Amino acid sequence: MSHPNDDRLPVLVFATHNANKVRELQEMLGDRYRIQSLTDIGCHEEIVEDAATLEGNAQIKARHVVTHYGLDCFADDTGLEVLALDGAPGVLSARYAGANGDSEANMTKLLAELNRMGATSPESRSAQFRTAICLIRDGEEHLIEGTCRGTIALQRSGAKGFGYDPVFTPEGHDRTFADMAPEEKNAISHRGRAVRAMVVRLLK
Ligand code: IMP
Repeated sequence: MSHPNDDRLPVLVFATHNANKVRELQEMLGDRYRIQSLTDIGCHEEIVEDAATLEGNAQIKARHVVTHYGLDCFADDTGLEVLALDGAPGVLSARYAGANGDSEANMTKLLAELNRMGATSPESRSAQFRTAICLIRDGEEHLIEGTCRGTIALQRSGAKGFGYDPVFTPEGHDRTFADMAPEEKNAISHRGRAVRAMVVRLLK
């Protein structure tokens, strides 16, 4: 594998400041692309994600980088879509219980909403995580999606992961994402699936 700093490789920007996300992608694409974060390219301005859909927010971020920095780029956006709540919190997942993106408060609100509706059976607690990726390469835009179906647990379980992981039980499992090791989650997760689909496209 080439070194990630190999400057003969084409640059592909991942529109995030999250170094962990960037490292993961660099490992998957290391001999074909040099992955750079927003921090790496000096993009420190706030990119306002005010679209009504996950796809729209991913497009806003990817298009910002292409327009202002002239580099190929991809961006992701994820939401938890609960059937009984007509797809909420969806695009508002990070801000469900308020602007500060507090995961504990978000989970408390979600469990309370389902309780209030009397939704106690697994069927009535059906949900999915969905990740949308917008990839812009050589001026061409591609939308890629990854989903993971499951149910909202009756109560929190597990201490791994982040966000809504303690209350999401993926289909075919009896443990939440927060009970799983990262590799086990990545193998079946919405983001894992979306990212692998994008890598297949990039390596074609
Ligand atoms: P983002 O688009 O990756 O920033 O995700 C938006 C929000 O969805 C985050 O604030 C998390 O609360 C939630 N989220 C995203 N991905 C996951 C996941 O894999 N597990 C649990 N929650 C997630």
